[in-house]
Amino acid sequence: MRLAALRTARGTRVHVRRAEGYVDLGDASGQPELAQLDHALADWSATRAAVEEAAHGVASVSPREADFGPLIPACRRILCVGRNYTEHIEELERQTPAWPEIFARFSSTAVGADDPIQITELSEQADYEGELAVVIGRRGRHVAASDALSMVAGYTVCNDVSMRDWQLRGAQWTTGKNFDGTLPVGPELVTPDEVDGDDLALETRLNGDVVQSARTAHMLLGVRDLIEFLSSFTLLEPGDLIATGTPAGVGLARKPPLFLRDGDVVEVTIEGVGSLRNPVQLDRRPPATERWRALARQTSS
Ligand code: MG
Repeated sequence: MRLAALRTARGTRVHVRRAEGYVDLGDASGQPELAQLDHALADWSATRAAVEEAAHGVASVSPREADFGPLIPACRRILCVGRNYTEHIEELERQTPAWPEIFARFSSTAVGADDPIQITELSEQADYEGELAVVIGRRGRHVAASDALSMVAGYTVCNDVSMRDWQLRGAQWTTGKNFDGTLPVGPELVTPDEVDGDDLALETRLNGDVVQSARTAHMLLGVRDLIEFLSSFTLLEPGDLIATGTPAGVGLARKPPLFLRDGDVVEVTIEGVGSLRNPVQLDRRPPATERWRALARQTSS
């Protein structure tokens, strides 16, 4: 089953994919609250039955008309892992982490499929990172790896766009990973009965050229491991999103480096999950000051 959060005249609403289009989950199920992503994911075991029922409903939005919102409820957490593919660690000339490299993103940085990725003159090093994303569908703390897949509502695609100069300027990655409009997520959530997140082909294209190509089987920490680790310190809740890390091929590691420019198009495709395509758009609003841009240019790494 496939879900999407579509922008409509009635706001962003959860829809179920059928061959001919998208069915509004709130309308088709007779449970209006299920049109809201946070409600739909809050009790995933109950939502599943409604989704199965809605899959027989009438499609109100054609695939061509679909306006995709990000597949993350407002105010849920985005938990990300860095350096999770060996070849990516090697291209950065870093050590394999002995401890998971976890960082967080704000849900307010998320955008949907086809939405612009916002770059800014404050950074000269906007970089793509194609990743498999896991959407949590159940509350859980201290979840063993062997039970971790029961926590998963589904998989989607994300692009963890990073401002490298800001990310690497200091010890914390928070600013470089949290510019507004830099986390495309979507277009659809695909339930685990349709795909095996442990071994999927991932490909990122920049203006049509393949820049990343890998399989999720090569992750150092797989989906089960990540859920076990994250739930050991925090209660995972429905709607939380786990970005599982990016493989080799990022722009930072290229010689010469390859950063995103106004008018570029980035497309991340994951086998069986979907293609997340976004244009890159320069935010032309002048910064309040030149001070931070000048400092960010003095990147130490
Ligand atoms: Mg990443």
